[in-house]
Amino acid sequence: MLADYHVHTAFSDDCVYPMEDVIKDAIALGLDEICFTDHVDYGVKLDYNEEGDTFKHDKNGNPIRNTNYPEYFALIEKLQEQYKDQITIRKGLEFGLQMNTLDKYQKLYETYPMDFIIHSNHQVNDIEIYLPQYREGRTQIEYNRIYYEEILRTVTHYKNYSVLGHLDSMNRYDPEGALDLSYFEDLVYEILKIVINDNKGIELNTANIRYHVKDLTPCRGILKIYHDLGGKIITIGSDSHKREHLGFNIEKAKEELKNLGFEYYCTYSKMEPIFHKL
Ligand SMILES: [Zn+2]
Ligand SMILES: [Zn+2]
Repeated sequence: MLADYHVHTAFSDDCVYPMEDVIKDAIALGLDEICFTDHVDYGVKLDYNEEGDTFKHDKNGNPIRNTNYPEYFALIEKLQEQYKDQITIRKGLEFGLQMNTLDKYQKLYETYPMDFIIHSNHQVNDIEIYLPQYREGRTQIEYNRIYYEEILRTVTHYKNYSVLGHLDSMNRYDPEGALDLSYFEDLVYEILKIVINDNKGIELNTANIRYHVKDLTPCRGILKIYHDLGGKIITIGSDSHKREHLGFNIEKAKEELKNLGFEYYCTYSKMEPIFHKL
């Protein structure tokens, strides 16, 4: 069983990979299952039918937008049927949650039935964590702790998701390199205790190599804490935006999880985890 549970398509503002091409490539790669998880980032992107402007623009100078949900889900349904004998296709989204946008995500969750939702944190107070602006005037410890404090708040107040995406993604963008876990371990413990108590999971995101992150994403230290706290639900996803990312290192990720003492990884159907032996 080979499944990729973090897959972007041209419905995401940062991706031009057509959905049907992703499916054809996934079949060619021998993947048994994929879950589409295109972007929603309220606060920094407009909805498909929303007027207004955004801080960032696309190459044509237009405001950047979230996934066009009606078209996206309709196309997934069409292709699910078309390719049903060759691959299982699941419906998901990647929510870029922030405390100031939780209501909008709740409404979105109630509008479209999905199999799987990644709870990611890409911004704090509408500022992208990859921008120098986010780090300005803050020490490395401060901007890292602010990021984890926001995750702690969003997992406390928002429960309609499946797994926490790329938990230490701050490491992808930090020009100082990854901050030692000891500086924010207390927050990681608090976050993971809530995740486990809510029967949610975490994701092992195999894009670490592409972002030049030396450890795994999240790092082995965080995976070990999750395991020690009794965490069992883990999905594996490539965070693919291009053909060469799709299905990348999924088998290797399974080996890593086994070495850390995990026994299962998960896929999802209608927001319920399905466990598979590693
Ligand atoms: Zn993400
Ligand atoms: Zn993603």
